[in-house]
Amino acid sequence: MPGLSAPTPHVLRAPLLFDGGGSEPVRDAALWLENGRVAYAGPAAGLPAGADQAQVVDLPGCTLLPGLVDVHVHLVASGGPDLANDIPSSPAGRTVVAVANARRQLERGVTLVRDLGAPGDEAIVVGRAIEAGEVQGPRVIPAGPAVTMTGGHIPYLGRIADGADGVRQAVRANAALGARCIKVVATGGVLTRGIDPREAAYTQAELDALVDEAHRLGLRVAAHAIGEGGVLAALRAGVDSIEHGMFLDEKTIEAMVASGARYTPTFSAPNGILAGAAVPAWIKDRARPAAEAQVGSFRGAVEAGVKVVAGTDAGTPDNPHGGVAREVAFMVEAGFDPLLALRAATGEAADLLGVSDRGVLRPGAAADVLAVDGDAVADVSALARPAAVFQDGRRVV
Ligand SMILES: [Zn+2]
Repeated sequence: MPGLSAPTPHVLRAPLLFDGGGSEPVRDAALWLENGRVAYAGPAAGLPAGADQAQVVDLPGCTLLPGLVDVHVHLVASGGPDLANDIPSSPAGRTVVAVANARRQLERGVTLVRDLGAPGDEAIVVGRAIEAGEVQGPRVIPAGPAVTMTGGHIPYLGRIADGADGVRQAVRANAALGARCIKVVATGGVLTRGIDPREAAYTQAELDALVDEAHRLGLRVAAHAIGEGGVLAALRAGVDSIEHGMFLDEKTIEAMVASGARYTPTFSAPNGILAGAAVPAWIKDRARPAAEAQVGSFRGAVEAGVKVVAGTDAGTPDNPHGGVAREVAFMVEAGFDPLLALRAATGEAADLLGVSDRGVLRPGAAADVLAVDGDAVADVSALARPAAVFQDGRRVV
């Protein structure tokens, strides 16, 4: 971070290390952090000689992992019972809320998030302040306002645009605002009254133009897509991730495998709505069919070989920030292999975000580390018990 002195070198010792990639977990492990980077990750017995100058932190009973990644959050919202009423009406109010939610993410071991929709540049501004060391939080890959059609889902977190030229212009406007990815609303949604969540939104021509423009500008595209038609159209257009995807049939799953797009099931979103005591009945009624279809869709996609990433949709009803541990637990509950679920919240997720030096603990990677109390590979619920968090080599929790 600019303006800050170099972090103290650290050696972390723990009985278990998971590196966020495809390697087997390491027993009796050590991690050497120097100059904000990982200098060594592996068996404690193999620690290089230079590491003996570093400050040692013993973490008995803990698992060392990369800082967690949440690929779908809304920093301007805090998880109140009704999203539309939960977001402060002024830009200053939303920015303050985003700062607090970013801090909450970091306290729970999340060191990288993708913000998929805000009314304006709130998450962009907060992300820059975090990188400058002015406030504490995870690195942010912000989408700026979600691109949604007239009469579409979440206009209060988006920019309305119609027609091929209109959506191209919206992508350019977001890029000019400082967005580092693009969010498009390809179907209706649970939280917008009067629109069928399963119904497709944009036409194929509009989606094609949007993705073409985003990719031309070097921005990856996340598509909010709940029903099969919208998912398929978004995949045909070449989006990089499908968010939610509650209703997937064989044809859409095949298209997902063929396109290589990642799948963010966001179990935390409908599950939060259904568990939230104060969530209005109309929202619960709309979430129920989606929640019921979700486990089957997820299993079908996993069996077919779709690449899964962890995103919570934090900020939606009863879905507060910092809950990616809960999302991983939902995936495992749905039958996902625990190691793959851990990768979905670390290496795979960072890779989707185009941040290849985070989400993994390898020499040269950023020293973003989470130590959790317990064996996180045997029992992913350990992720909810952070014992220490390091960001760019500095202990922040
Ligand atoms: Zn969302």
